[in-house]
Amino acid sequence: MINETREVFEKIQWKKLKKQLVYCYKNSPFYQNKMKNYGIEPGDIKSYKDFKLFPFTKREEIYSCQQEYPPFGNLVTIGKEQWHEVHTTTGTAGKPIFVVWSAKDILNFTNFVFRSFSALGITNRDIFYNVFRYGFRMGGLTVHRVAEKFHCFAVPVGVDVLTNTGLEMFININPTVLISFPSEIIRLKDRLGLRKINPKDLALRIAILGGEPGTSVDEIRGLIERPFNLKAYDTYGITEMGPLIGTECLCQKGIHWAEDHYFVEIIDPVTGMPCQPGEMGILVLTDLTKEAMPLIRYWTNDYVALSTERCECGSVFVRTKGAILGGDKDIVSFNGRKFYIFDVQKILWSIEGGVGQEFLVILEGGGTLGQETCILQVERKNDESATEQREFAQKLKEKIEKELKIPVIIEAVPHGTINKYGGLNPKISRIIDRRKPGNILI
Ligand SMILES: [Zn+2]
Repeated sequence: MINETREVFEKIQWKKLKKQLVYCYKNSPFYQNKMKNYGIEPGDIKSYKDFKLFPFTKREEIYSCQQEYPPFGNLVTIGKEQWHEVHTTTGTAGKPIFVVWSAKDILNFTNFVFRSFSALGITNRDIFYNVFRYGFRMGGLTVHRVAEKFHCFAVPVGVDVLTNTGLEMFININPTVLISFPSEIIRLKDRLGLRKINPKDLALRIAILGGEPGTSVDEIRGLIERPFNLKAYDTYGITEMGPLIGTECLCQKGIHWAEDHYFVEIIDPVTGMPCQPGEMGILVLTDLTKEAMPLIRYWTNDYVALSTERCECGSVFVRTKGAILGGDKDIVSFNGRKFYIFDVQKILWSIEGGVGQEFLVILEGGGTLGQETCILQVERKNDESATEQREFAQKLKEKIEKELKIPVIIEAVPHGTINKYGGLNPKISRIIDRRKPGNILI
């Protein structure tokens, strides 16, 4: 199917979508009610022109319906005897969402992630070092199942990669494939450096990275790849739909969506209408094959642009263009200007010595527009001299002020001040807003 023409592929995809709408209408009281409330029946959706008017599903709705009908809400379409596995979102606002999976869902999922990994040249001779989280997070288990399908040796590292045991194991086992987060592989390089180990002398040849944006931005990818002499590939996942639902191919020209399992749309957050190819909008996903808890037009709150140009790898699946940026929580509105936290990260990482450093944006002052202060705290190595720190801060300040057009105060802080776990939590909040009420906030 991957090598079909786009026209043929879209016909197959559309059939799946129509079937899924009927399935949800029949089996999910949540979607039946939603369709009735909007005066729609599955048969009314004859083309994308109709589907683009179908209501979105927002995270808050799922949370509320799970509160009303615990544990999984009235959007579950299968009986209890078919429940196979449950995972949860991080619940950053204290409102976790539970996602239940059937055995068939898990099998489908494992198969298509296996397909993505195979396309990267992974074989049964590889050794997986799996830093994705196990437990309620789904990433670790998914990668583990895929490694089993390859018949590979898989190390279930989880959160322990930078502990002494984790590091010792990494050096001794000498894996060939690392599944991790961009900031973690950079910290790993630093930790290896402290032990006088040149990362290039290790067997690591592939890094599959997710959880944070950046890998698909060429300058950041280079900073990850060069020290290890490996190939780094970006991925995307969201617990509500699944981890690794998009992975880059060997061409490294954006994340290919697994469009045989997901209907992908990019929606203008203001008009609620589809964006043009290349335009940045909200990623909206529909499960095409999910059996236990399918979601229709799920509003991920992540910003992304699509490239619909056929990839050199031959895959019919569309790709992302540039980095995927977090939702509204990652946009800073400051003195009338807006910037993404990722913009700061990108600039920081692009300066030699700034790669992988933990940082925090602190907003102060205000009351009146134009009176706000932006402080950028950056963790620095403890053995750095005062002159080195000054030079780094000056370079960073100049670059931020030039590219983001905002005045900034740089504060170098000792390693471990911002994140005592040393970059182990990619979901760490990087904004502290101490501005007085009355400011213009998002
Ligand atoms: Zn490709």
